[in-house]
Amino acid sequence: MSTKLKQIQEIAGAVKNPFLEKAMEQKKPVMGYFCNYVPEELLHAAGFVPYRMRAVGSTGTARGDTYFTAINCSFVRRCFDQVLSGEYDFLAGAIVLNGCDHSRRIYDNWRDAKKSGLPAPEHLFMLVAPHVLRESALERYEKELKKLMQGLEDAYGAKVSSKALKASMDIYQKRHELVCQLYALRSQKIPAITGAEMLSVLMAITAVPVEDANSLLEKLLAEIEGRKAASSDDIRLMLVGGCMEEPEHIALIEENPAVVVADSLCYGARLLRPPQKDEAKEPLAALTRRYLFHPSCPRMINDFDRRKEALFDAFNESGADAIIAEKLMFCDLWGGEIFLLRKEAKERGIPLLGLEREAYGGGEGQIRTRVQAFIEQVQNAKARKQQAANGKEAS
Ligand code: SF4
Repeated sequence: MSTKLKQIQEIAGAVKNPFLEKAMEQKKPVMGYFCNYVPEELLHAAGFVPYRMRAVGSTGTARGDTYFTAINCSFVRRCFDQVLSGEYDFLAGAIVLNGCDHSRRIYDNWRDAKKSGLPAPEHLFMLVAPHVLRESALERYEKELKKLMQGLEDAYGAKVSSKALKASMDIYQKRHELVCQLYALRSQKIPAITGAEMLSVLMAITAVPVEDANSLLEKLLAEIEGRKAASSDDIRLMLVGGCMEEPEHIALIEENPAVVVADSLCYGARLLRPPQKDEAKEPLAALTRRYLFHPSCPRMINDFDRRKEALFDAFNESGADAIIAEKLMFCDLWGGEIFLLRKEAKERGIPLLGLEREAYGGGEGQIRTRVQAFIEQVQNAKARKQQAANGKEAS
């Protein structure tokens, strides 16, 4: 295995990592955040190391369950369990987003826990991002980002100048370009990187300072060029879903003659925030548009059509054969999305397997059987199609 990949997997598999520790030794404060609608560039420009919150290393939900009910999603319960266990005691602060009704409750519960003396950073912030995608929502979002900036300034004296924000946007733009290069290596005829490895990369780069992330990505790209991480006969899959942070789950899917070549995941294509063509010159306005209009998830209630088109475009461009669409138990947002996607995939003749599971929740035996049966079905359908095409050519 590539040495960079090994290092990246170690970073992705733990809450803390040497890059983060080094930054903290240099007195750089770490700001935890949830969800793809919290602009990392803004936190970076304010002098923080943005750190995407995760449930990695979770061993259960006992502590989380004292604040959440059993019908809250397991990502939220496990992540909060890690918070209460003190795993995140290195954070200078944390920003919770109104991502969905489950995740937004982390803010209230964390504040309550803090009052009871349970582990919490000195400052907690709530960022409210619009749930609709339209021009008029930009104003609201920008106002909320300004409120957050004011909050950071009041709490830490951290001022964000336009110049600093522009410089941070440039550094993150570099990360964006490097990740796009990785996506290109992933979707080539023989992928240079597996789906499980790709998830580790995307988890790692959101847990280290962006400067280190860019350097890791550059070295990784150089190391894996020309690598063959799968076979040309493998079934090519697109993976669709929300909070998925277990590379071992994707590895289980890829135990079959199959490889994930494209995705629409939180730690995936939704980390990409391409510059928008009608962006303003002023950095905050440009950033607001970039984040509001980036590839959305079902929390954006009026964006299914755009989302669906982007998803099937990525599917076609990657040469994928089939889709596996996943939801965590009790996640209504992804439940509705998969219902709609199933119909769309059927109309296009694309095989789609819907999976429901718990984060870090086991159930491997059942998942393995269902995925295996699905891959066999796709293989058979592909072989029949090929035979029919060969027959046509011969006649
Ligand atoms: S998996 Fe669903 S319920 Fe859980 S945080 Fe994500 S969107 Fe919310």
